[in-house]
Amino acid sequence: MTIDINSVVSLNYKLSNHKTGAHIEETNSDNPLVFLFGVGQLMPEFEDNLQGKKAGDKFDFAIESANAYGPYSEDNIVMIPKTVFHTEEGKFNEDEIKVDAVVPMSDNEGNHMRGIVREINEEMVKMDFNHPLAGYDLHFSGDILAVREASKDELDHGHVHGEGGHQH
Ligand SMILES: [Zn+2]
Repeated sequence: MTIDINSVVSLNYKLSNHKTGAHIEETNSDNPLVFLFGVGQLMPEFEDNLQGKKAGDKFDFAIESANAYGPYSEDNIVMIPKTVFHTEEGKFNEDEIKVDAVVPMSDNEGNHMRGIVREINEEMVKMDFNHPLAGYDLHFSGDILAVREASKDELDHGHVHGEGGHQH
């Protein structure tokens, strides 16, 4: 069968930076990407490029940053007082807050986000809350491993069950 709304798709992909060709990540046969197609789990343009393909088909396409993780924005660079990162002893947590460290934080509304430490000065820490792939045009290539119809339970739950999916 071919990939369409409510298919369960297994695939392997390689993701690289479309402009530079630099490798970003890839799946392998022990741990392919398995997802329910057409329910908004993945970026729409990624799904558009796979619709109609079947097991054994290959794919190779690019997605502009605007349709992936969006532009890199200076608005997502924030200066945070070092006191926010004090330990229980009242000292700056220099073991964990280092340049290039990825730090889990939450905003005033309790939303979880991850920031990358860009700079540390006398009083402030410059944190970058852009998605690590913001501003990147993405290049995907790979193989469709399997396509099957979703079960009624999977459609009710909105996710895949069994291998590569939820175990419940
Ligand atoms: Zn479920």
